[in-house]
Amino acid sequence: MKGFDVAIIGGGLSGSATALNLSNKGYSVLIIEKEKFQDYKPCAGGMASVMQKFLPLDITESIESKIKNVEFRWKASDNVIADLTGESPFWIIKREKLDQLLLDKSLSNGVQIIRPFLIEKINKKNNKWEITCDNKCTYLSEFLVIADGSQSKWAGYFNLGPRNPKFANTISLRLKGLGDIPKDAVRFEFGFIKYGFAWAFPLKESLNIGLGTFINNSLLENQAINKKVIRSFGFDDFPHKTINKKLRIWNGFHRINGDKVLAVGDAASLCDPFLAEGIRPSLISSFYAAEYIDQCISGKVDDLNLYTKEINKIWGKSMAWGRRIAQVFYRFPRTGYQLGVKRKTAPKRIAQILSGEMSYEDIAKRVIRRLLTNSGT
Ligand SMILES: Cc1cc2nc3c(=O)[nH]c(=O)nc-3n(C[C@H](O)[C@H](O)[C@H](O)COP(=O)(O)OP(=O)(O)OC[C@H]3O[C@@H](n4cnc5c(N)ncnc54)[C@H](O)[C@@H]3O)c2cc1C
Repeated sequence: MKGFDVAIIGGGLSGSATALNLSNKGYSVLIIEKEKFQDYKPCAGGMASVMQKFLPLDITESIESKIKNVEFRWKASDNVIADLTGESPFWIIKREKLDQLLLDKSLSNGVQIIRPFLIEKINKKNNKWEITCDNKCTYLSEFLVIADGSQSKWAGYFNLGPRNPKFANTISLRLKGLGDIPKDAVRFEFGFIKYGFAWAFPLKESLNIGLGTFINNSLLENQAINKKVIRSFGFDDFPHKTINKKLRIWNGFHRINGDKVLAVGDAASLCDPFLAEGIRPSLISSFYAAEYIDQCISGKVDDLNLYTKEINKIWGKSMAWGRRIAQVFYRFPRTGYQLGVKRKTAPKRIAQILSGEMSYEDIAKRVIRRLLTNSGT
């Protein structure tokens, strides 16, 4: 039986980033990944460049576009353009490339990966995890990280995150060419999709298109509307190969650690319930997962409880407001568009959210302060 300091279930963004952070600290890590290879990741790749601080490697190779403008539209008209040329740019990265960079660097640090394998059972024996895979091998580890994404089987098994996870329904596709999207702009299209929106994020030579619906478990079944949305990005004819994915979104403050086990990324239900931003919380949680496992192993803390506290503080507090905003905005989208997007100061605020300079909590507090001041309180 082979032993490791940490075993990680899932070798996507969160799993590979956690492996890299841990191996940089000198720990032995095993990743167990169910897929042999993934040549397309359903992710538009929008990422605030400030996130680089949570990435212990140069990711320049994966950056396909640097965004200067964000375009908002209501049913293909009523445009609003936000300038994104502030201090912290917004990048479009190719997800497959980013994940591969993280994994390659981890492997060069000595991390081991077994793929494509599934786990058959996990037991705790003598305070160590005993993990049996369908390659008939059993592995031992001190700590366990759950990084198996939105369809996570293991987060629920260990009671990590919400008992009833909430999901956004998404459709994504990558088309050759940029349609009518400028190479340095992203577009958010509201009004067509019930309880959600559509987005178009440019890579070097292709466009990542996504459609998402965020409340009431709505589905994206209306093919005519879906086609209309895609046409609105400047494509007359396009192949019908789309990927449907249920994206696990933030749904309240929950424990995302147990005894010597914790969840990161989508498995921990961290994805933004308003804009589907999941790269940022994946990188933040992977960073702190490694920090607190390190503190536990080196005896500075007794358990991983501070991990949950930290993530709830730096991400959850903002997401609580993101969820409230989503509930109102997507129920009354026309009013939301007029008041939230078309306001004079809105483009700047939106740019600040996307670039990570401001959180939903900051925005909400500003609005509340303004309301109180205006009412003379
Ligand atoms: C259409 C769409 C567009 C998006 N666009 C953006 C965007 O522009 N910006 C942004 O910030 N976020 C975006 N997101 C969110 C972002 O993609 C996710 O938050 C991110 O992928 C989470 O990474 P992860 O590593 O937690 O999960 P994943 O990337 O899903 O990785 C999970 C890994 O675990 C493996 N796995 C699953 N089950 C098992 C198992 N039982 N055993 C072993 N391995 C397993 C999987 O094969 C996979 O490799 C988007 C999401 C969608 C669906």
